[in-house]
Amino acid sequence: MKEKSTINLQTFYPEILQIIKIKEEKGQITIRMKSKTHSEHCPKCGKESERYHAVYTRTVQDLPIYQKNVILKIKAYKYDCENEKCEVKSYSEKYDEFIGKCGRMTDRLENFIRTLALETNCEGAAAICKELGIRTSGDTIIRILRKMVDVPAVECGEVIGVDDFAYRKGKTYCTVICDGITKKPVDILEGRDGATLKEWLAKNKQVKKVTRDRAGAYAKAIRETLPEAMQIADRFHLQQNFSEAIKEALKREIPKKIVIPDMPTEVIDEEQIEQGEKKLK
Ligand SMILES: [Zn+2]
Repeated sequence: MKEKSTINLQTFYPEILQIIKIKEEKGQITIRMKSKTHSEHCPKCGKESERYHAVYTRTVQDLPIYQKNVILKIKAYKYDCENEKCEVKSYSEKYDEFIGKCGRMTDRLENFIRTLALETNCEGAAAICKELGIRTSGDTIIRILRKMVDVPAVECGEVIGVDDFAYRKGKTYCTVICDGITKKPVDILEGRDGATLKEWLAKNKQVKKVTRDRAGAYAKAIRETLPEAMQIADRFHLQQNFSEAIKEALKREIPKKIVIPDMPTEVIDEEQIEQGEKKLK
């Protein structure tokens, strides 16, 4: 293969996105691109349209180059749906496997951040990203990770268990729902105040038994949405409450200080020990 002294950046981008200009500033590279599409399929009815509706600039972050932040400014098109019966009037073109729908990052950048966060943690990954020239934050990384669980809810049976867990301890909490028979998670909901659980239960009226913690939020949500459902306090939380009650009782009943009187110590010399051993023999 012939050796070169330059790299053609275009080879790193899909053919339909043509590089027009590259601007390099301190800490940032801006790549201006033009979309070369002439038609696009409607996301609703699937009909292909060649009728441009509008041109707009789409700003997307890509993988950094030598620790410089890379921003793509794409001159993109919107198309009119040519199907008169379709409820969608206009839609944006797609760049499948390069930029997701409404994405502000390329798929490859998002994949990199996701892998980094899974191997470290959100705040650690954000700090490493900053060093590499990627602009992001711990909250954005949480959103990227959450996309992994934004899958259609799995059908579940009549018995479920609900509990809360922390995305960021002390800051962001969610609710996980598990099927009581298969023991597998079926959905993850935002918050732990019971509001999202109420919505979920309203769509899953087959539920007859719910195991839950001892806090009031879930109990209220279940009582209000499925009053006939049996509520069961789960063993883990019962044991937790029980041990806390014992600790409280001990704190209350036992004085803070218990004085142990000095015991008189007897000095035994080696001769006495030897005599004792002889007696034993
Ligand atoms: Zn359509």
